[in-house]
Amino acid sequence: MVTRFAPSPNGPLHLGHAYSAIVAHDLAKAASGRFLLRIEDIDGPRSKPEFADEFRRDLEWLALEWEEVPAQSTRLDTYTAAADELLQRGLLYPCDLTRKQIAALPLRKGNDGLTYPGTSRGLAQRGVTDGAALRLDIDRALAQTGDLSWFDEIAGEMKADPRPFGDVVLVRKDLPASYHLAATLDDARDGVTLVTRGMDLFEATHIHRLIQALLGLPVPTWHHHKLLLDANGEKLAKRRGSPSLAERRLSGEDGVMLAEQLRMQNFELGT
Ligand code: GLU
Repeated sequence: MVTRFAPSPNGPLHLGHAYSAIVAHDLAKAASGRFLLRIEDIDGPRSKPEFADEFRRDLEWLALEWEEVPAQSTRLDTYTAAADELLQRGLLYPCDLTRKQIAALPLRKGNDGLTYPGTSRGLAQRGVTDGAALRLDIDRALAQTGDLSWFDEIAGEMKADPRPFGDVVLVRKDLPASYHLAATLDDARDGVTLVTRGMDLFEATHIHRLIQALLGLPVPTWHHHKLLLDANGEKLAKRRGSPSLAERRLSGEDGVMLAEQLRMQNFELGT
């Protein structure tokens, strides 16, 4: 049994992150398993090592025990190798449209808000690949894998439904992977057997399941936990001014007590 907490060091951790880390930690410990910390630091200049250092202090303050696996920035070659394979198999195609150009397209409404209609399919034949993102040709991908399913410990058996995402970006213009490709490859490489994370990433799992099938990766179980809500019933987030874990820690708050409160779910949980 292996779980993980995979924060992105582009800002401080908040209560919701603490809850997520505790859920993953406790599930692993209850099964005498391993709890991993993976720093997902491929967000260009937004990723800062200072935040990752704070994350380790925050987890220590919450009295969690973890093993740290290599950060994503050290694994870029593995993302490139996987993307090359998908490209060779004709499953990825370049798209050099800017966000603005895409926003002007007649988009279908999709899970991640932006369902790209496949406008750039055929660009590769015209020899355009430099500086382009690579998108997954969802129709070709599904034709190879057929129907897929995945299991969530809370939601139960799910039929994988990646189509609403459209031709999702797997390789960004500026990076050798998108979140979907990097996280999926890393979970496999790290031997994660139970992917624990918040409900906000539930829909992304449809895409991750497809990537696993395409690349012959092992299929874990998922545990998408409820999100913590603030007093107004809104998702806890930095932009709404909830204090970060580092701020709480530095103000002298007791991290062990906070962890206990979170375990007892003394905070409102959303759906
Ligand atoms: N790095 C992602 C984040 O901080 C989480 C990825 C995951 O748990 O799959 O939102």
